[in-house]
Amino acid sequence: MEALYIHIPFCKTICSYCDFCKVFYQEKWTKPYIEALRKELDEYGLSRPLSTIYIGGGTPNSLSNKELEILLNWIDTLPKQENIEYTIECNVELITKEQISLFLKHGINRVSIGIQTTHDHHLAKLNRHHNQDEIEYKINLISRMGIKNINVDLMYAFPNETMEELEKDINFFLTLPITHISTYSLMIEPNTKLYIENIQPISEDLDAEMYNLICHKLKENNFEHYEISNFAKIGYQSKHNLTYWRNKGYYGIGVGASGYIENLRYTNTRSLTAYLNGTRHLEEESISKELNQEYELLLKLRLKEGLSISEYQNKYGIDLLSLDSVKREMRKQNIEYHDDRMFIPEHKLYISNEILVDLL
Ligand code: SF4
Repeated sequence: MEALYIHIPFCKTICSYCDFCKVFYQEKWTKPYIEALRKELDEYGLSRPLSTIYIGGGTPNSLSNKELEILLNWIDTLPKQENIEYTIECNVELITKEQISLFLKHGINRVSIGIQTTHDHHLAKLNRHHNQDEIEYKINLISRMGIKNINVDLMYAFPNETMEELEKDINFFLTLPITHISTYSLMIEPNTKLYIENIQPISEDLDAEMYNLICHKLKENNFEHYEISNFAKIGYQSKHNLTYWRNKGYYGIGVGASGYIENLRYTNTRSLTAYLNGTRHLEEESISKELNQEYELLLKLRLKEGLSISEYQNKYGIDLLSLDSVKREMRKQNIEYHDDRMFIPEHKLYISNEILVDLL
């Protein structure tokens, strides 16, 4: 295993749609938390030098520079491959020059920023506090200071959002020095502020229209649509996320983090106090060969590259092309097959969930 996910749950403000594992930042928790992360990883023991590290959250850059330095100094001691992809998620308004210098000093070479939208009224509804000028300034600053691999998150499907507003967001994103865009349709999850306010999702038709606009505009501007919701300039696909989608193992440490080590998939407790007291896995799933077959289909068919039929047959002794469900989906042109690869064509990715349910 060569991939490590580190969850930093602290946030300075809480977004109205958020159901991620997060807590309000409190200085008293940060050092014990970093110590607990170190202990968790020690328990697993790294088997090989890391090829990707992803510090996600939460808001990793809600940590003070001193706290970040403690975290990054510890990560410095872990064995790494020379061409490692090393990402940190950032909240745009918390980014400073000093922080970027710290990232550079410790070898971080990719920054992922949750922009969501540039429209003030939607941002206010989401309880996010940046604006378009700040986004432009901070992203250009990161690039100028030397981190050239930058992802931004684009959210859509806000209540009352228009196609024109979405198009304006995309056009603005395209003026930025970015290499990767992750897109999210706003979900109204239970226990979030939006849910309590009884905010209703937009219609499925409008959601589909928005998704199509994103795909079309990004493709037109040389972003490859390589995963259902992810787009990258050539050579900038997220190596870390490809680990998940290619069904490979990874370490996940921290509250709420998931991992896949040998034949065990696990999710950690979401309770900070329990985690600090040494509780780790909340859920564990032992992965049999049969279950792994399903994961492999579910995950790899999210990718434009799909999966190799011969590799699948060698691994599981199953000829996918002989299965009735596969034949059915091929007849409906929901699945294609070329040069040993089976995949969902790009224009059907939007209904990939339905296709996968039928396959399984
Ligand atoms: S910054 Fe991210 S993790 Fe924190 S509240 Fe907002 S969406 Fe949730």
